[in-house]
Amino acid sequence: MREAVVTQLGAPLEVREVPVPEPGAGQVRVRLEASGICHTDIHAANGDWPVKPSPPFVPGHEGVGVVEAVGAGVDPARIGTRVAIPWLGRACGECSYCVSGWETLCERQRNTGYSVDGCYAEQTLADARYVVPVPDGVSSVDAAPLTCAGVTTYKAVKVAGVRSAERVAVFGIGGLGHLALQYARIAGGFTVAVDVEAAKLELARELGADHTVNAAEGDPVAEIRALGGADVAIATAASPRSFRQAFESLRRGGRLVCVGLPADGRLELPVFDVVLKGISVVGSIVGTRADLAEVFALHAAGRTEVVAQTRELEEVNDSFAEVLDGRVPARLVIRF
Ligand code: NAD
Ligand code: ZN
Ligand code: ZN
Repeated sequence: MREAVVTQLGAPLEVREVPVPEPGAGQVRVRLEASGICHTDIHAANGDWPVKPSPPFVPGHEGVGVVEAVGAGVDPARIGTRVAIPWLGRACGECSYCVSGWETLCERQRNTGYSVDGCYAEQTLADARYVVPVPDGVSSVDAAPLTCAGVTTYKAVKVAGVRSAERVAVFGIGGLGHLALQYARIAGGFTVAVDVEAAKLELARELGADHTVNAAEGDPVAEIRALGGADVAIATAASPRSFRQAFESLRRGGRLVCVGLPADGRLELPVFDVVLKGISVVGSIVGTRADLAEVFALHAAGRTEVVAQTRELEEVNDSFAEVLDGRVPARLVIRF
């Protein structure tokens, strides 16, 4: 089988031929049909974050495919079913976070495509308990971006507690942002889309954004304040400047949801404003298996649209460049 491997942080990925792995106890082997390229994979390959992955490793945590083999202790009836392999590769299942619906905060979690090999591969192994069934009404190419970009922004909207008629500003209309907009609308919010690429703003309008702001040309803070300010700002762009703008665009009582993970990201906040304006700042990391099942249910019911183009595994390095250049509408998905 073929896989794309990071052999050295910051170096191009290598596509190589390796033996098909055998599932261990509690694992499934999945033959991938689609594997989304999340911006996180680029951060991983570059070693952008404080906790770095150790090469060699296979990135990818938006994997969707068919279970073709199971290890000891896994019901063989699962063979032939279609599953999604998310960022939360596994968690301990017993800590206070795991048992209270916050498995995404488990301190003993392993992350797909970061601390365990991921989905830029024709076949991969996954923990049978942490893969999520994909319903028939959702294609594999659509399911892939939903597996991280979808569940992450669905959770961000939940964490923000968006209520109908609130104004939700989404900063960054990429893989995550184009879905954040849609979940904010499903929750009943009015939406403002902010990006630095005209094509992303055009896409946002097609997806029903009420307002768009090009942060490369105009001032999103002034424009959003002129509308009355944002009740919720969801920061998905990997740009510290964009986080500051998201914060400054809030009205009193507003909530900033930090989602993007810029390299060396720092956010300095004026305590006086945070206190007097009653601002909440919250971090949001992916979503649980239950959240992902809800994301799939919404998509199967026709409530969301995934905007993606497909690529070959061999095109992975060019695909990273396309994402970094902002030329992608809105997600690239490796199709096998
Ligand atoms: P992406 O590259 O698809 O989208 C980023 C978007 O931001 C692009 O449309 C780009 O044009 C836009 N942008 C860039 N600079 C901007 C600026 N200054 N102002 C406004 N828009 C700007 O990336 P993605 O896959 O959507 O991921 C975004 C970030 O979220 C990454 O840092 C990724 O690691 C992180 N992420 C976080 C989680 C989480 O659970 N918190 C999950 C997945 C990804
Ligand atoms: Zn991701
Ligand atoms: Zn745990």
